[in-house]
Amino acid sequence: MSTLFISDLHLSPCRPEITDCFLTFLEDSADRVEALYILGDLFEVWIGDDAADPEQQAIVAALKRFTDTGQPCYFTHGNRDFLVGNRFSTESGVQLLDESTVIDVYGERVLLLHGDTLCTDDRSYQRFRRIVRNTRLHTLYFAIPISARRAIVSRIRKSSKTDTALKPEQITDVNQHAVERTMRGCGVNKLIHGHTHRPAVHNFILQQQPASRIVLGDWYTQGSFLEWGPDGFKLQSLPLRG
Ligand code: MN
Repeated sequence: MSTLFISDLHLSPCRPEITDCFLTFLEDSADRVEALYILGDLFEVWIGDDAADPEQQAIVAALKRFTDTGQPCYFTHGNRDFLVGNRFSTESGVQLLDESTVIDVYGERVLLLHGDTLCTDDRSYQRFRRIVRNTRLHTLYFAIPISARRAIVSRIRKSSKTDTALKPEQITDVNQHAVERTMRGCGVNKLIHGHTHRPAVHNFILQQQPASRIVLGDWYTQGSFLEWGPDGFKLQSLPLRG
């Protein structure tokens, strides 16, 4: 038995092979894992829980089949799907986590983040984030019709400044000071995050102790996950079918 971590699938009808890969991954993982953690950007875009398109509804149904087998699944919001809410959670059985969560993995304290808050060198993205994550704005946003919401989201994505911050190849990497400050603040020596699309294990010394920052890979040319069992952890990839 092991615990699995994924992020940055960016599921979208434009890339059906990735959705297939994820649905197979879910089916294969049910019954054989202790838990599945999704650390954000599961969806390329999420207009609201009441506005899921047929493909997104199929994904919610697949998550429900997974959680119905008894394996817990947890979700941290990413910068693409931060509007995922309680209705999604009820319909999928997936439990929503805070933006920063410390869990126990086989006796180790591990901090889970999407990762965008660590990219402090990208000032314009952090400004953009503060605006779009304002919950008072969300109340206004959810009061307008779905079609208008769709138009707003598409306009935001088209505006060049924010688009730059959302393109994988142009995502600013994390700032090491921000990483160390965050880890010290949470009292952890292990951090798992996604967002940057730069899968790797970075080992360094934090307060005279060995520390690791594990970066999850994206799902563009392959599936990608971190498997953590009693004997340790490993980043793995999944080939696409066809
Ligand atoms: Mn992201």
